Amino acid sequence: MVETSDPLECDSCDATVPVDEARRTKTMGGLDPTKWQTLCCPSCGSRLQTIYVGE
Ligand SMILES: [Zn+2]
Repeated sequence: MVETSDPLECDSCDATVPVDEARRTKTMGGLDPTKWQTLCCPSCGSRLQTIYVGE
């Protein structure tokens, strides 16, 4: 798993979301879900960042 210490900022609702609290979903666009996950804002559901979790 990727360890990212910096919190993410949501552009939609201005929330600051620790990576631990972000919702993880499958990526869109057919990326391999075992290697890529999308982090989403727990407040509004907006996509925050796509992270590489492979290796
Ligand atoms: Zn948000």
